[in-house]
Amino acid sequence: MAGYAIEAEALTKYYGKTRGIDKLSLTVEKGAFFGFIGPNGAGKSTTIRTLLGLISPDSGRGRVLDKDITKEKRKILERVGYLPSDNAFYMGMRVGDILKLSAGLRKKDCSVRASELCRRLQLDLSKKVEDLSFGNRKKVGIACALQHSPELLILDEPTGGLDPLIQHEFFDILQEENEKGVTVFLSSHVLSEIQRHCTQAAVIREGRVIACDSVERLARSNARRVTLRGNVRREDLPDLKGWKEEEGIISFLYSGEIRELIRKLADLEIQDLTIAEPDLEEIILHYYGEGSEEA
Ligand code: ADP
Repeated sequence: MAGYAIEAEALTKYYGKTRGIDKLSLTVEKGAFFGFIGPNGAGKSTTIRTLLGLISPDSGRGRVLDKDITKEKRKILERVGYLPSDNAFYMGMRVGDILKLSAGLRKKDCSVRASELCRRLQLDLSKKVEDLSFGNRKKVGIACALQHSPELLILDEPTGGLDPLIQHEFFDILQEENEKGVTVFLSSHVLSEIQRHCTQAAVIREGRVIACDSVERLARSNARRVTLRGNVRREDLPDLKGWKEEEGIISFLYSGEIRELIRKLADLEIQDLTIAEPDLEEIILHYYGEGSEEA
């Protein structure tokens, strides 16, 4: 697969004094199923809006589908399907009319694909926008982003408000598109969905990408989640993070030598012990970036 679908180099955008993103660098390979993970306020939407030329960066450079984000916005938007985090529609319009309007702006007839998407997402074409729930409005946005079969899908927090069955169907649709060669770029603050569906991911924190790799490699660390019942104090053990103590059950992340841990534990009063792989969420929380360690 040739080249990158997205390239950002030291992109910076401030809203007055408020940091949107600060020297953010990122590359996404063509054909990737890419997750963009970060807490609310980290700068995900700002990154996306900057990449799509909807807002201008203060400095830095970016290319989407080999086009410059400041000089070739129109060409980029023609080839991208975008779901904004906050969809706004004209009230009074029916779902079918919105989809037709959106297709018309691209000078395309997408009616067959639009009906299929609506069937799969269980969205009623005849409903008026103002009568739709938040989740159903999200589906309209998803159908708008997908109906014209773009080469690159940029989806900003797409799953909020969708019920689990629809989320499942939605990810099936994205998977099918990705298998056809479409690059999927999906932002989320829900790590489990990124871990489940994406193959590559970047972690954004405070306006910067702090890690970018395959999901498998991001999740691979020496750390283990240790859970035990017994008389153990935090000071008894080295290399600990994420210490939790609840109803006599102690749990922590340990990144040192397992043999060393077992040797130490052997001298302590312990009734029960499990050692397991932590999930990606815990790893990112405790091992990427500073200031993330809770007491
Ligand atoms: P995320 O999508 O990760 O939640 P955003 O890109 O929306 O993060 O926001 C990053 C930072 O920029 C936040 O502090 C947010 O309050 C600020 N911000 C975003 N959009 C605007 C705006 N239009 N005006 C002022 N500040 C904004």
